Amino acid sequence: MKAMVLHRMGEPMRLEEVPMPRIGPNEVLVRVRACGVGLTVVKAIQTPGRVTSYPRIPGHELAGDVVELGSEVRTVKVGDRVTSHYYLTCGQCRQCRSGRETLCERPGGHVGAAIDGGYAEFIALPERNIVPIPDGVSYVDAGVASDAIATPYHACHKEARVGPGDTLLVIGAGGGVGVHMVQMGRVCGARVIAVDIGEDKLDLAAANGADDLIDARKGGIAAQVHSITGGRGADAAIDMVGARDTLEAALASLGTGGRLVMIGSRPKHIYGDDPTFSINPEAFSKRALEVHSSRYVTSAEIEKTLELIRLGRIKPAVTRTFPLSGAQEAHELIRNNATTGRLALLMD
Ligand SMILES: [Zn+2]
Repeated sequence: MKAMVLHRMGEPMRLEEVPMPRIGPNEVLVRVRACGVGLTVVKAIQTPGRVTSYPRIPGHELAGDVVELGSEVRTVKVGDRVTSHYYLTCGQCRQCRSGRETLCERPGGHVGAAIDGGYAEFIALPERNIVPIPDGVSYVDAGVASDAIATPYHACHKEARVGPGDTLLVIGAGGGVGVHMVQMGRVCGARVIAVDIGEDKLDLAAANGADDLIDARKGGIAAQVHSITGGRGADAAIDMVGARDTLEAALASLGTGGRLVMIGSRPKHIYGDDPTFSINPEAFSKRALEVHSSRYVTSAEIEKTLELIRLGRIKPAVTRTFPLSGAQEAHELIRNNATTGRLALLMD
């Protein structure tokens, strides 16, 4: 089969002919139809230790058809249209059994890093990772939903606890996850203030339902949020950039009782700057603020995200598609911050 193969950290991926994946008794073979491409993958393959061995096929936002089952597989059928959970979890530990599988105590790594991923014609996946795609949802939309849209579901609903009438600040609102965060904030009933850099990204945030726009190049994010909200501040701020400046701006933008949720990260080993930010404990506790991290999603949350897409409440913002061989070009565009919305590969 054809696949985009990574031979060493930092090297470009190459289109190659590789052997078909072999499945174990608890695995299924999926013919990949589409695979999302985002910053998570671009950063993962540059992070020492994340890819556990080479050669490796990256990509985790995949969707396709089940074509073969391992001997022990009971919950999936040949012909099922499916997408995948990104994390490899044990299913047995305290965290997995309490519905927090992304905190698994025996984590096996990630699809596309610890096992071969979706930048290929076929992929072998554990049965546990499989999530069915409802009728009426396309492969590309379902693939992107498994991370770029499900992540906003968890962040808005579980971490930021966005409710009707809230004001939600989204920093990095024009990116592949950001545009869906804007939509999800609206689905949860919030007024959404979108922050990004440049007209293209802010226009896309507006097209995805943002009520107010802030260009971060013009400075003073917190001052503008307080001005827009009549001095009250935001009920929640979701930061997808992960830089010290944006995190401190997000915190300063919150009103009393506000929730800061961190999703993005800008690792020092990739970006050079230390993202560590400071909190004044007195102001923090006086205003009863909260800081949350958001660690991906459960498989059940992916199912609920797919249902929102089926209902038309969320419209996946895939702005550009590439053939499998275009994965490296897509990665370069993302690395250079030259994209808006989500990119995806469509297989023949
Ligand atoms: Zn576990």
